[in-house]
Amino acid sequence: MATSLPRDVSRLGELSALLFDLDGVLTPTAEVHMRAWSRLFNDWFAAHDLAPYTDDDYFEYVDGRPRYDGVRAMLAARGVVLPEGADDDGPDVETVRGLGNRKNSVFAAELAENGVQPYPGSVEFLDRAIALGVQVAVVSSSRNAVPVLEAAGLRDRFDVVVDGAVAAAEGIAGKPAPDTYLEGARRLGLTAADCVVVEDATSGVEAGRAGSFGLVLGVDRGTGRDALLRSGADVVVDDLQEAVVALGPARASSTTDTTSTDTTSTHTAEAQP
Ligand SMILES: [Mg+2]
Repeated sequence: MATSLPRDVSRLGELSALLFDLDGVLTPTAEVHMRAWSRLFNDWFAAHDLAPYTDDDYFEYVDGRPRYDGVRAMLAARGVVLPEGADDDGPDVETVRGLGNRKNSVFAAELAENGVQPYPGSVEFLDRAIALGVQVAVVSSSRNAVPVLEAAGLRDRFDVVVDGAVAAAEGIAGKPAPDTYLEGARRLGLTAADCVVVEDATSGVEAGRAGSFGLVLGVDRGTGRDALLRSGADVVVDDLQEAVVALGPARASSTTDTTSTDTTSTHTAEAQP
């Protein structure tokens, strides 16, 4: 039985849908976050006669921490202690949470003004899949998924977006629980076994493994191939361009004529609204 064989990238040609994580898979969103933090702290430090914010500060105090923790740690490094404040403090309130919320506003401004360029290999992979009738969805923990997709020019590719706002509104557990990916499959009318999870983070790979998806495709943007494999990825690539060929022999062609030769795909893309 095929189920007893190792699952490899060739399975991409057999499955009905791709469920994409967003940040780090389709878009280098971390760059936008870095620019937003820089803008936030440079402005605030200048206004308070503090030493300028640097990239080293980002990696030392901000990177990888929850937003408010990053603000608190960064301020402490400049000898500043602000009141903690409340989650609903406005962006102009001088508290840890107010500044954290201001970072969200700055992120939105940064996106609107400078946009974000999606990974070219990801766009090639995505567009080839769509052209072949593979269904696609975005499953992201971010509450900014829709503005990021819009800024990247990818919003119209996706009818189904399960993001942090959807998860919060509907009480769906976040990654590494499989629930948001399962919701993505459900909204496409498919089961987990029909779908590929495409992820760059170990937590997302764990979600794909926990949900018994048809394939878990890891994208190594720095997390490391071994870490992704250990977390449950079936296959790891450095860039999704490497996986285009695996969409199937007929799918690897560089021709744009995809209308008549693919007789294996039973799911066609929904018409865009
Ligand atoms: Mg990611």
